[in-house]
Amino acid sequence: MVNTSPEWQTRYKTLEAKKQQIITSQLKLCKKCNIEKSLENFGVNTSVYDGFSNKCKQCINDLRMQYYWANKEKENEKSRIYWKSHPERRVIQKLKRNIDEERQERERNAAVNRYWKNRDLRLAYTREYRKKNPDKILAHTRNRRARLENAEGNFTSKEWSILCKIFGNCCLCCGSSENLHADHIIPLTKGGNNFISNIQPLCCRCNISKGNRIIVDYRLKSKLITSNLPIKIYV
Ligand SMILES: [Zn+2]
Ligand SMILES: [Zn+2]
Repeated sequence: MVNTSPEWQTRYKTLEAKKQQIITSQLKLCKKCNIEKSLENFGVNTSVYDGFSNKCKQCINDLRMQYYWANKEKENEKSRIYWKSHPERRVIQKLKRNIDEERQERERNAAVNRYWKNRDLRLAYTREYRKKNPDKILAHTRNRRARLENAEGNFTSKEWSILCKIFGNCCLCCGSSENLHADHIIPLTKGGNNFISNIQPLCCRCNISKGNRIIVDYRLKSKLITSNLPIKIYV
């Protein structure tokens, strides 16, 4: 039923005028921070008269983070329970992540930014952790060595230097030439081997941000791969 009371009609008219103004100017005032921002800074909300949320994305994010930090333990416990009771959602989430390259790129960049923003704090934390848990560190190193030893194959330093040379002695992800690491394309933890065909040069930053979560073959993206390679890279 349509509300036809005069009071409501005047209200409707003012809102309609406001909506038109917002759409033509492409600007909206955020109710939280009181700053006029362009419409792309607002999420979609169909229950608001103009179709855009009353608070800007930044403010909503801030509120969300505030809530999270105030209820950290509770929220973490909630998500732990959720993911434990929905194993199938977990698999789907993982698959989605592996397909969505844009998201991977975004997450990678975010991880790199996070790393550099909190680098000193993090290094201090790591130092402290290493000091406090020597047994854990020992176990970790031992496990990694065992994985390396158990993994099929190995590569020589000569093969590594040839590989780096082929790709211009730079990181295949960002192009940096500093501190190149031998990255296992399919991680050893996921059954990858230790042959040179499973190795790509990545800089320290890209190697850290990639982690063991995702499998990206940056060699395929490199322009150099199209030229004739002196050694066989694929098995
Ligand atoms: Zn705002
Ligand atoms: Zn890099």
